[in-house]
Amino acid sequence: MNQASISILLVEDSPSDAKLLRQTLWHLGGERWQVVQFDRLSDALNACSKNIFDIVLLDLSLPDSEGLNTIAAFYAAAPNIPIVVLAEFDDEDIALQAVADSVQDYLVKKQITPNLLERAIRTCFDRGQILKQLRESEHRLHLIFEQTFQSMALLTCEGIILEMNQSALNLWGSQLQYCVGKPLWELESWNFSSINQEWLKSIIAKAADGEFIRHELQVRGANDVMVWIDFSLKPLKDKTGKVVLLIVEGWDISDRKRAEAEIIKAWEQERELNEMKSSFVSMVSHEFRNPMSVIRTAVELLKSYNHQLSDQQKSKYFGKIQTAIYQMQQLLDEVLFLGRSDAGKLQYEPTLLDLEHFCSELTQTLQLSASGKHQIIFSFQGKRTPVFVDENLLRYILTNLLSNAIKYSPQGGKIRFNVICQDDTVTFQIQDFGIGIPTKDQQRLFETFHRASNVGSIPGTGLGLSIVKKCVDLHQGQISLESQVGVGTKFTVKLPLNHHVTQSLELIESGSDLPKQY
Ligand code: ATP
Ligand code: MG
Repeated sequence: MNQASISILLVEDSPSDAKLLRQTLWHLGGERWQVVQFDRLSDALNACSKNIFDIVLLDLSLPDSEGLNTIAAFYAAAPNIPIVVLAEFDDEDIALQAVADSVQDYLVKKQITPNLLERAIRTCFDRGQILKQLRESEHRLHLIFEQTFQSMALLTCEGIILEMNQSALNLWGSQLQYCVGKPLWELESWNFSSINQEWLKSIIAKAADGEFIRHELQVRGANDVMVWIDFSLKPLKDKTGKVVLLIVEGWDISDRKRAEAEIIKAWEQERELNEMKSSFVSMVSHEFRNPMSVIRTAVELLKSYNHQLSDQQKSKYFGKIQTAIYQMQQLLDEVLFLGRSDAGKLQYEPTLLDLEHFCSELTQTLQLSASGKHQIIFSFQGKRTPVFVDENLLRYILTNLLSNAIKYSPQGGKIRFNVICQDDTVTFQIQDFGIGIPTKDQQRLFETFHRASNVGSIPGTGLGLSIVKKCVDLHQGQISLESQVGVGTKFTVKLPLNHHVTQSLELIESGSDLPKQY
């Protein structure tokens, strides 16, 4: 220690006492101290704000302050400067109180000897240096506590918050003054759910018993956004092993959780895709084999017995070949459609459509392709103005539903096709009186390759309804069904009509009649 560097603040209003102290110090070695003296407490405190002093020799009776108040006032203004009190009398009570008030030493003026003074200054200075180092170290630790990325808090064993760092306050969108003194479970991050709160209380009790707790959980963060955190509670023990504090730590792991969820989703999609591929391979081999063997047999018969077959028989075999080719073509169309849809290439491209005309033509086409056993009864209600829909997607929807109605009514009969056009929605109902769909099969019909258990030998791939569902979704519409085995099935499709666009198009159309001049 460089002894000359001790700078002493002497607060003493009595000129004779001040002179005596200065002389004593000078005798002890004037070069070892620098002494600055003030008569009044206010002047001394003012100097403290501008200069650095190692210790203060503080007289208790000053013109602007008296007794223990002088110590309190000095300590409040300059808590880092160790105090040696200079008292007039040897008053034990005051001495004890002064020492309790962070005073390092207490000297009675009349009893001061050079040795006593030197020892008091030395002790006071050394203690001051130790305190300074402690404070600096505490400051460094506090800086680390504050600046770390990790959210941290200190709790009592009962779960009351003592400290909380900035990361924790940022994560939970709170301010220190609203947190300190509160139980952790009463912070907004936890109090949104009583189950969470009870769980937190129980793990605080466990940590207070010495257990280390760590969990990944969700809490309410800033702006009410739910945040995933890696949360831990660590008991802090004293030398005897008694838990004295709990350290709470929290890492925001929301990004990691999101990435995990995406990986799981991608993995699920991959699994579904693999399942779909294997179903596809078995379906294709089955669905293509049937029409191919029909074609092969018909061609062989036509080739081998060409001369023996009547024209009527020949045309029957040609008809079979045509139907088989049509079936394969339809299957390929459906597969291609699904492929486009899975690749995200299927788009909703609405145009204005005369719905009644479109549906009536579609009914006629399907009626022609159906055998004479079926009768499609078409009805149209509501507004007859053109509506804004995607014609191609709508054709897929209605063709699939109407062909199903025909196909799954093998005994023939009526098929009702109702269209109800309202201001903001168009509803299509396709009702048959065929085999119906068992309740247990109804849920999964819109998934690819799902067929009901009662189809028997009716051909099909289980792709049609999954295509219909995709087309309805692209329209942001809804599809539902009611069905009873042996009674019949009714599919209902509701599509929203985009009026805003319809109106603007109408405006453009009416505007086109205006003379083109400005
Ligand atoms: P395709 O891909 O050739 O259309 P599919 O008709 O078997 O084959 P979907 O149209 O997707 O496939 O229909 C799925 C299943 O739903 C059918 O296999 C059938 O079991 C059931 N289904 C659909 N419509 C009806 C209906 N109107 N009556 C009874 N069952 C039906
Ligand atoms: Mg079908």
